[in-house]
Amino acid sequence: MTATLLTNLRIWDGEDLSPADALCFRDGRIRAMGDGAELDAHGQGRRMDCGGLTAIPGLIDAHVHLELNPDNRKAPERKWVGKERLARMAERAEAMVRAGITTGRDLGGGAWRELKIRDRVNAGELLGPRLLCAGQPITSVGGHCHFWGGEAADARQAEAVLRRQLAHKVDLIKVMATGGVMTPGSSPLQPQFDLPTLAAIVELADEQGLSVAAHCHGTEGIRIAAEAGVRTIEHCSWVGREGWASDYRPEVAAAIAEKGAWVSPTISRGWRRFLDKRNAETLGRLQGAFGDMLARKVPLIASTDAGIPGVYHHQLPVALPVFAQIAGLTPAQALRSATSNAADALGLGKVTGRLQPGLAADLILVQGDPLTDLAALAQPAAVWARGRDVQLPA
Ligand SMILES: [Zn+2]
Repeated sequence: MTATLLTNLRIWDGEDLSPADALCFRDGRIRAMGDGAELDAHGQGRRMDCGGLTAIPGLIDAHVHLELNPDNRKAPERKWVGKERLARMAERAEAMVRAGITTGRDLGGGAWRELKIRDRVNAGELLGPRLLCAGQPITSVGGHCHFWGGEAADARQAEAVLRRQLAHKVDLIKVMATGGVMTPGSSPLQPQFDLPTLAAIVELADEQGLSVAAHCHGTEGIRIAAEAGVRTIEHCSWVGREGWASDYRPEVAAAIAEKGAWVSPTISRGWRRFLDKRNAETLGRLQGAFGDMLARKVPLIASTDAGIPGVYHHQLPVALPVFAQIAGLTPAQALRSATSNAADALGLGKVTGRLQPGLAADLILVQGDPLTDLAALAQPAAVWARGRDVQLPA
């Protein structure tokens, strides 16, 4: 493939503004960054003047479900699993990458179809983000998202579910550490597994080189997941009898930080409702929890839970400003949570999430300054995923 040289560019590299004003990529990787005139002297290929544009790494959504249709308002039934057409899932993947999301972590489906999408994107047959997939989440009998087929009554059955995911070549393991909202009969407040069972799941996954993402709403489940050594805590809602964030416990946040787990709070654009005056009480609790977590250096990554009702797969760019407002992040902190920090959390720090020579050419160009206004992300001027211009007609 010929090289592409972007010049006259402002570059935010995933952590900070770079002194470089040009970036060259070829064969899917960033080859050089530096002074435009110098790079141009020995460069051949396509040259693009990018005056007025800022380059940032492609975004990472750490929590999506390609199998779920956001237009469905009800939880799927067991007999539905595996019925979702591959073509619909491929459309969602394409919408993600066109919006600038060049990596996604799929945290659950019932029929491993998202793994087919992953493999076909890797083969260059479909347009989509790089995907890490968890397959069927391990859950308790009748527990959260049991319709996906990952029920386990004890550690031995959990191992069987885990081995089934390995056979399908998943990239990580998802476990439902508490009940959820979407499944009738399961309670977000209640843990679904005790510490020995969850620790056994983490150990077994670790032996296979896989990390564990744990769905956690209630505080006791958050505590157990942190103690068990999971890599990421999904939702981390601190939910109590008084609602979201009503059971925040600083000592559990301290345990998360000490264990080095990442919190993935799945804040979608719809969370704008919490910024409304009517929800001032909930917002106050949420902001208090995030403020204390940040003070304790609990690391956060951006995620949306795309696929659940009303949360569309391509909306991370418009969710990030809401995440920043609720969690009290500067634009740079919010951008790091969706790029360099997310890549580190997902074990992809040597692959993507930063603009630096040797890493994948996953980058987006935006008009305006995303470091002062995240709204600049909503309409990227260009997107390359592993060096492929995804906004060109296929
Ligand atoms: Zn989810």
